[in-house]
Amino acid sequence: MAQDSIFSLFSGMMSYDMAIDLGTANTLVYMRGKGVVLDEPSVVAYHSVNGRKEVLSVGTNAKKMIGRAPGTIQVVRPLRDGVIADFQVAESMIKHFIKRVYKRSFLFGKPKVIVCVPYGATEVEKRAIRDSVLSAGARRTGLIAEPIAAAIGSGIAITDPKGVMVVDIGGGTTEVAVLSFGDIVYAKSVRVGGDSMDEALVSYLRREHQLLIGEATAEKVKKAMGIAKRPLNGSGKQLTIRGRDLGKGGKPREFIMNQTHVADALSLPVGVIQRAVMEALESTPPDLASDIVDNGVMLTGGGAMLSHLDTGLCELTGLTMTVAEEPLKCVVVGTGKTLDQSEELSHVIDYSG
Ligand code: ADP
Ligand code: MG
Repeated sequence: MAQDSIFSLFSGMMSYDMAIDLGTANTLVYMRGKGVVLDEPSVVAYHSVNGRKEVLSVGTNAKKMIGRAPGTIQVVRPLRDGVIADFQVAESMIKHFIKRVYKRSFLFGKPKVIVCVPYGATEVEKRAIRDSVLSAGARRTGLIAEPIAAAIGSGIAITDPKGVMVVDIGGGTTEVAVLSFGDIVYAKSVRVGGDSMDEALVSYLRREHQLLIGEATAEKVKKAMGIAKRPLNGSGKQLTIRGRDLGKGGKPREFIMNQTHVADALSLPVGVIQRAVMEALESTPPDLASDIVDNGVMLTGGGAMLSHLDTGLCELTGLTMTVAEEPLKCVVVGTGKTLDQSEELSHVIDYSG
């Protein structure tokens, strides 16, 4: 073994290489040899001092401030719609998370960091992400396309010569992709995901029941009893929610919401996701489409946990739908696997730039 390869083996073992899923709703970090070491909302709270943005909190603590922060504090999700809305804030967030997991590990040398970015990220955005990761102390950075990471993380052998379809339903976007031989044959991203579901709940309650609720309450309702179609018998689960009455001078009011209400409220965003899947099927070359009929479709991302989204999609397409085992972790685990199996999977990582 040549001396430099002994060295690279040694430094590879000693440095805690990392994989990051920079999601619109959540950021996860996977450390080689340790697994998922960070799982936090992609949220930043800051205030401006002499025109400079000073970060106050990042992640879970910042998310708690959404809808509650005083006017002097901005609480933002820098990647909210799948694009970087604010580069400076996005960079602070990335650095903050890397530093948090990397406090001690710098002793072992600088890590290689693979980042999975929302599909459809522009060259400028990719550059910004690489630069942030490098300036946070990485030795080398690589990027991976999200649908590929999601597929690997959900257990699909992506290098097989078989067509597979992966639907990743995140916070800001839904990405539908068809892969074959480890590459993307078709991909489409729509700006509809978990956030649109929360917004749909807010606007349904305002429109149909003159009740104003916040984003955080809407997300709670969705997680507790979100459903993609009306329950077959009765009105399903129910939950008492509190909001402001738009009819009576804005006084607080309670409302008993059931799953029929929820299904009606979510019909619009669910319809957009269904159409994106149909479009992908229609655009898939026939031989690959036939593989997808055999293998079914893999659903990943937090939105895949919406009850009956899978059965609704199955009825619509006639295809088998599988919800990944840990939908929220697929992307980071898939990105992490490229660190462990760097030889076989090196072609899916983009080190250029
Ligand atoms: P991203 O990759 O864009 O960060 P995630 O894959 O982390 O997104 O998914 C986050 C989204 O999943 C959020 O909108 C969240 O509300 C939603 N979500 C989480 N749990 C559930 C659930 N049980 N039912 C429906 N949606 C859920
Ligand atoms: Mg994601």
